[in-house]
Amino acid sequence: MVNGMKTFSKGGVHPAGHKELSNAIAIRNAEVKGTLIFPMSMHIGAPAECLVKVGDEVNEGMLIGKAAGFISANIYCSVKGVVKEIKDIYLASGMKTKAVVVETAEDFKPGEVKFEASDWEKLTPKEIVDKIAAAGIVGLGGATFPVNVKYSIPPDSKVDALVINGVECEPYLTADHRLMLEKTEQLFKGMRIIAKAINAPKIFVGIEANKPDAIQKMTEFAAKNGGDIEIVPLQLKYPQGDEKQLLKAVIDKEIPSGKLPIAIGAVVSNVGTVNAVYEAVALGKPLYERVVTVTGGGIKNPGNYLVKVGTKVGDLIEQCGGFTDDAVKLIMGGPMMGFTFSDLDTPVIKGTSGILVLSAKEAKKGQRTACLQCGRCLKACPIGLQPTKLFKKINSGKYAEALKLNLMDCKECGCCAFVCPANIPLVQGFRLGKRMAPKPPKKG
Ligand code: SF4
Ligand code: SF4
Repeated sequence: MVNGMKTFSKGGVHPAGHKELSNAIAIRNAEVKGTLIFPMSMHIGAPAECLVKVGDEVNEGMLIGKAAGFISANIYCSVKGVVKEIKDIYLASGMKTKAVVVETAEDFKPGEVKFEASDWEKLTPKEIVDKIAAAGIVGLGGATFPVNVKYSIPPDSKVDALVINGVECEPYLTADHRLMLEKTEQLFKGMRIIAKAINAPKIFVGIEANKPDAIQKMTEFAAKNGGDIEIVPLQLKYPQGDEKQLLKAVIDKEIPSGKLPIAIGAVVSNVGTVNAVYEAVALGKPLYERVVTVTGGGIKNPGNYLVKVGTKVGDLIEQCGGFTDDAVKLIMGGPMMGFTFSDLDTPVIKGTSGILVLSAKEAKKGQRTACLQCGRCLKACPIGLQPTKLFKKINSGKYAEALKLNLMDCKECGCCAFVCPANIPLVQGFRLGKRMAPKPPKKG
């Protein structure tokens, strides 16, 4: 503990934050124009079943994709317009999915459609979870797991703590920081809604020390709102936003390998997800827009924007003044865990926390050399894996042996690659290894 602030113990790194590019810029509404693209798969689980066809008229908040199974999510249109095309596209992650292309109507005015608010305090836990499922809410921190599944607590499990992730440890990203400053009251209501749904007696909010204004505002609010919500300032350390590291830092408990937080009586949700839950349950508004940080040395006017899901990245960047002359790299998400992509027609999806454009200086990397056997990756790994050994196994096609070294426990956090003086593309190797590794036989 430093200055009374907690953190996790094993591994971790300290990349430069670069938050100053956008953390003081209030959330603005992004403009809507032209065509928007709605992938039927922007969540973990089965793709949604497409409910519209070419020529159909659609509107803001209209269901256009229906969850196809327990682990799946509804998809809503974010604009008024007409379905122009249904086609296969690639997401920034490289995943192929069916998508609905909508041409926005010229007379579309965002916010015209009214939703039915409800008195959430009168709802039962099941009614809350059902509303969350209907609204298509997934983890907005990037995990995109349908949260109604997470909040459906098995009868043999008990929740001791709801832990809210206000850490935003990825460099450059500031969307959650702005939400904590600008939507404090509704976040507190959102936390209470989730706590009621999962029957959590205690709520913690972990916030890293580089957001002193958010820590102060949330702490003042907590003091006025009863004693069951505790704001926990945390030391800066990446990847503290991961569930495993966050729970170790905030409640000093370890999730066993291969288990979920509920195994230790915890449920974790990100600040953006809490905001979406409030809007869905209290205001009746489905998830079709989110706050996105558009930033980096390669963007003329960085900022935080409320963006309609489906907006093309190129249109969003244009609103931010476009690229600087030395922009060289486009990333969806942050620099540690985000996906590099190049197609400006790629849409913003539910899990898009940031669009990062790096300048040549920011993107500069040294030459790749052979492994120096320095052991830095080993020290940096927060899971306690052996990155260098894992990479060697994958490189020589020994995927089953990589599995025995717990490849599947790798969070792809990038700590190992960040410290590697040989610039070995460790994370790309682990992603490939996971794809190629033999799958376990199905039970039953
Ligand atoms: S990417 Fe995987 S191996 Fe590398 S530090 Fe993170 S968890 Fe460990
Ligand atoms: S940090 Fe890089 S160079 Fe050092 S042991 Fe790990 S893989 Fe090898």
